[in-house]
Amino acid sequence: MAQERILVVEDEEDIQELIRYNLEKESYRVTCAGSGEAALESVVKDIPDLVILDLMLPGIDGLSVCRELRASDRSRTVPVLMLTAKDDEADIVTGLELGADDYMTKPFSPRVLLARVRALLRRRAASPETGDTIRRGGIEIDAGRHRVTIAGEVLDLTLTEFRVLEFLARRPGIVFTRYQIVDAVKGEDYPVTDRSVDVQIVGLRKKLGDDRDCIETVRGVGYRFRAAADPEDNHA
Ligand code: CA
Repeated sequence: MAQERILVVEDEEDIQELIRYNLEKESYRVTCAGSGEAALESVVKDIPDLVILDLMLPGIDGLSVCRELRASDRSRTVPVLMLTAKDDEADIVTGLELGADDYMTKPFSPRVLLARVRALLRRRAASPETGDTIRRGGIEIDAGRHRVTIAGEVLDLTLTEFRVLEFLARRPGIVFTRYQIVDAVKGEDYPVTDRSVDVQIVGLRKKLGDDRDCIETVRGVGYRFRAAADPEDNHA
């Protein structure tokens, strides 16, 4: 059975070796990089199945590496497990927002690390790249993660904005009334009214960027997501 390849990005040699030893014992193929630069070079050459990424690195730090990985189409969906030196909440939160999938704080137990690695690889196998991701006109909507990115930049959407965008983007070209949109997106504890749909749309348009006129107003009716003839778009 072909084993998955794991890129370990860690400048501390003893920790790098500890991780390599434990992964290889489980028959994973391991590539090590001692800096952010080396990590990015390695990814360009060959996309790994998973990246274990220490955040404290000389030169390009781990968070920047994570951002780069997420910005590139090739590496966007590769699972990233962050390592942090201590309970640095700010770094952990930033890393997760940048798209890291999980984190561990040092010192860590190799057995727990292996369990996390297996879980991430399983999750990836269960949801292949196309997964539940909607791509429309340069906007990528990851329904599972409730995340919207444009050119790798994660947009800071509220949950309701996300739901409105997802609802419309799944059905491009179809016009929905405000009431239909309210019906589709309202949560049990979230008072969404027809007027507030307008507010959500204004907020969404602003966050999507002025040049992305993807949500059209259909006068007297409601809104629709512009149907684009972009071959890159999918509805997987
Ligand atoms: Ca380090």
